[in-house]
Amino acid sequence: MALTIGVDIGGTKVAAGVVDEDGRIVAHLLRPTPAENPERVAHTIGDVILELARDREIEAVGLGAAGFVDETRSIVRFAPNLAWREEPLQKKVSDLVGLPVVVENDANAMAWGEARFGAGRGESHLVCVTVGTGIGGGIVFDGSLYRGRWGMGAEFGHMQAVPQGRLCGCGNLGCWEQYASGSALVNEARKIAEAEPDRAVTLLKIAGGTPEQIEGHEVTEAARQGDPAALAAFSSMARWIGQGLTDLVAVLDPGCFVLGGGVSRAADLWIDETREFFATHLSGRGHRPLADIRLAELGASAGLVGAADLARRR
Ligand SMILES: [Zn+2]
Repeated sequence: MALTIGVDIGGTKVAAGVVDEDGRIVAHLLRPTPAENPERVAHTIGDVILELARDREIEAVGLGAAGFVDETRSIVRFAPNLAWREEPLQKKVSDLVGLPVVVENDANAMAWGEARFGAGRGESHLVCVTVGTGIGGGIVFDGSLYRGRWGMGAEFGHMQAVPQGRLCGCGNLGCWEQYASGSALVNEARKIAEAEPDRAVTLLKIAGGTPEQIEGHEVTEAARQGDPAALAAFSSMARWIGQGLTDLVAVLDPGCFVLGGGVSRAADLWIDETREFFATHLSGRGHRPLADIRLAELGASAGLVGAADLARRR
């Protein structure tokens, strides 16, 4: 059975696994990312690959990188959470490990993993949206990963949702991820707690007393206890996610959406409202099939499983 290695490189950790043809992880390793130093990141990746490849026949390696990857799938042009700038990651890592290497954007790798082995199995047209601190995305179009001309497509988080809206980390105003992500959830909860503390009694108690102290897991906990401010923050995020999905349908007309990322772990608190908003705001509703909105199934390993499979198909 041909084995490949998938590596998911995020701002805080490097997760690597040996993956078989059926998407099963047969060995796994996790290391902290030395994010500030590109040389050390490359060596960390090289080390985990060599350790996993010991006593195994490995065909190729796929790297899922949290950054803008070029169309040749070898250079990371820019990464918001790592020190990569025009980083020749493919060459550095293949020189270190002596195996064929392909580099893919991490959200693309995740979309591919879910399309092949997860919630999107069997769907030829699928859109994956990862809702975490920001929003990432991936498109499977007619059975293949769609990257765009320069490799940088599917950055859904930076579609403008609100003209002259909130400032985004990308430098623009009003990006979708400023309204529909984990960070947006926290901002909204803080805003409500500041303006109407009477609605946020439980939330403020959990968070330690002041709106600035509120963090994501505390909004989740307070919402589970019925705190009105926390529930309102979830509701706002749910509707904004639904709005973005209706916009994506207008362009891409997918068979299904797969939603993943940290915020999806509390999906029971918001996904019904997203589905409801989506169904009632879709352009042409009633005269077209409604794309299914599913939760990702592979969890944190979707990226490495997808990267490993893309390496096999290089
Ligand atoms: Zn932006």
